[in-house]
Amino acid sequence: MSETPLLEVDNIKVHFPIYKGVIARQVGAVKAVDGVSFSVNRGETLGLVGESGCGKSTTGLAVLRMLSTTAGTIRFDGTDITHLSRAALRPFRRRIQMIYQDPFGALDPRMTVGQLIAEPMIVHNIEPNRAARDTRARDLLSMVGLRQDMAERYIHEFSGGQRQRIGIARALAMQPDLLICDEPVSALDVSIQAQIVNLFQDLQARFGLTYLFIAHDLAVIRHISDRIAVMYLGRIVEIAGREALYDHPKHPYTQALLAAVAIPDPDIEATRPHITVTGEVPSALNPPPGCRFHPRCPLAIDRCRTEEPQLRDMSNGQSVACHLA
Ligand code: SF4
Repeated sequence: MSETPLLEVDNIKVHFPIYKGVIARQVGAVKAVDGVSFSVNRGETLGLVGESGCGKSTTGLAVLRMLSTTAGTIRFDGTDITHLSRAALRPFRRRIQMIYQDPFGALDPRMTVGQLIAEPMIVHNIEPNRAARDTRARDLLSMVGLRQDMAERYIHEFSGGQRQRIGIARALAMQPDLLICDEPVSALDVSIQAQIVNLFQDLQARFGLTYLFIAHDLAVIRHISDRIAVMYLGRIVEIAGREALYDHPKHPYTQALLAAVAIPDPDIEATRPHITVTGEVPSALNPPPGCRFHPRCPLAIDRCRTEEPQLRDMSNGQSVACHLA
């Protein structure tokens, strides 16, 4: 494994301005991502977990440069891609692919599956020869566990799990290094989820892929991730290796998330903290001062209401943003 991480995200912010009145005066901003830093090593899976609206999907879109960052830096394979022009970004676009929850919502239903998989090869000039492209599309179908003759069929003929396999084949057609997987299994039945997660793992082992895996489901994240970052209201509150995070969570929010999920080991289950939180996630338009989690945190002290805790390295790569950790 190379020393330099494949992806380095440094203190990125994605703020969406709010305008009001006839002269469209800016009256505020939704701070969807508000100072997020992490790195992903080559061949590694970093899980990004948190409740809906915490900014995890926005983070993924920012890394993909489909959303502009308000501040911060994104480095991919050693290159700062944060402000690259469209043309300069093009080779990186091919190397960073996104897998969506519904991969075919925006695609032409009149194209065959083979055409859908071949299309990005034309756009990125990966395989100019049509016959070779068709063969590669069929090979890609085999790689994701589908029959080659399915290339002639249309997307509406497939189940949700099969569609996701086709979506993965389409992404692999670009020969990417990094896959940003945004809730790729959350719309599927549990038994199918496991098959698709296993497919992601097989493909990673086979092609050395790197994943930024975004999900709200802690069981899925645990299964696939090497390290995990927990997001709350636009910030990372804890980042750690899988065992450390699930066996010894240090941030009260992580503890609360995990308290809702049974751990198979009875010793760990008996000793780990069982924190519960109430109330809704506050608005990213007006995040609470101090620690953003303080209105819901059962352990909050006065300092938490005024002073924002920074991510601090505890040990073994476990970092926590909490005054009490
Ligand atoms: Fe709770 Fe305070 Fe820690 Fe925030 S800093 S998680 S409010 S104890």
